[in-house]
Amino acid sequence: MRSFKIAVMPGDGIGQEITSPAVELVKEVARQSGIQLQWVNVPAGAQHYQETGDGFPESHFQEAASADAIYLAAMGLPDVRYPDGTEVGPQHDLRKRLQLYAGVRPCRPMPCLPLPLSDPRSKTLDFVIVRESTEGIFAEPRKHPLDNDGAAHNLTRVTRETSEKLFRFSFQLAERRKQRGLPGLVTCADKANVLSSQAFFRTIFDEISLEYPHIESEHQYVDAAALDFVRAPWRYDVIPTENQYGDILSDISAALMGGMGMTSSGEIGDNHAVFQPCHGSAPDIMGQGKANPTGMILSGALLLDYLGTRFDCPEATSAGQLLESATMAAYATGTLLPWELGGRSGTKEIVDLVGQQLTS
Ligand code: ATP
Repeated sequence: MRSFKIAVMPGDGIGQEITSPAVELVKEVARQSGIQLQWVNVPAGAQHYQETGDGFPESHFQEAASADAIYLAAMGLPDVRYPDGTEVGPQHDLRKRLQLYAGVRPCRPMPCLPLPLSDPRSKTLDFVIVRESTEGIFAEPRKHPLDNDGAAHNLTRVTRETSEKLFRFSFQLAERRKQRGLPGLVTCADKANVLSSQAFFRTIFDEISLEYPHIESEHQYVDAAALDFVRAPWRYDVIPTENQYGDILSDISAALMGGMGMTSSGEIGDNHAVFQPCHGSAPDIMGQGKANPTGMILSGALLLDYLGTRFDCPEATSAGQLLESATMAAYATGTLLPWELGGRSGTKEIVDLVGQQLTS
């Protein structure tokens, strides 16, 4: 039986509430699909900083880095800061130190939910943003040596090496999706008409697209993409984009699914990967049982799918599909409406119903 080591990082706030029930569901599909998962708990985050004076001890980082995949909920609390005023965010350390350049953010709404767009096609959306997550305008977020009382600067960084990897990742993702009957279209969302770094990004996209002649490719300026995300999001399949553009488009994509609690993501590099919902620790609702665990559950499905692809393990791929289908089936009953969408379904109701789909 294939065996994988998974590092679990519950983190802070609602992260701690959604982790254990989601892990139980991942364990169940792994059991049903015949793979073994060894779980290692890795404490880190704002609460850990408060308790120990270290938000992410080096030994904990090494433990996480030694796993086949990392399952992370949410980290950071607004009132807990390092002495320099920045938030405690081990997820950013993981992204940077493990070189997790491909931020995979799927948009696939669950059935029977009230969604913001009235067009019925908005219920069948199925696209993926691939946000470059180590460079762009977030590469140098701190103060710049040229800063003074009259001006502030942040340097944007686009490298050939990372861009090539990002685009190859996107085209390979489109290939796999095409095998499942999806369009196989890669749209590079950029600002090549204004920024030379973005023109460079687009040139590399064009070069890499030649390696995948059977996959359709196109460019779109990111502002036009923002328009189409609201006007006609069903036109998309795979969208690689710069770090900050991906950050913003991802939140529009979250809205298209009904809310932050519905979002799943993978932060994937050449040798490591972290899977987590896109929301934060949501201190405003913590301890009330209202946290929506759907994004965490779907991130577990992405984690299993990653294990299947990266380690060539079809059982892990089927476990991921099983978990995603069970989550969709739970929503298809029409009885779930999470609190953040104006309903009364909390963490327990949602997890229990997904669990029932797996055992019925
Ligand atoms: P960050 O600053 O890291 O983005 P945050 O918690 O301030 O974190 P979001 O994650 O964007 O911000 O969440 C904004 C609000 O959306 C939360 O305060 C909460 O009310 C709601 N929310 C987010 N995630 C969930 C969830 N899983 N279930 C229910 N409500 C959520």
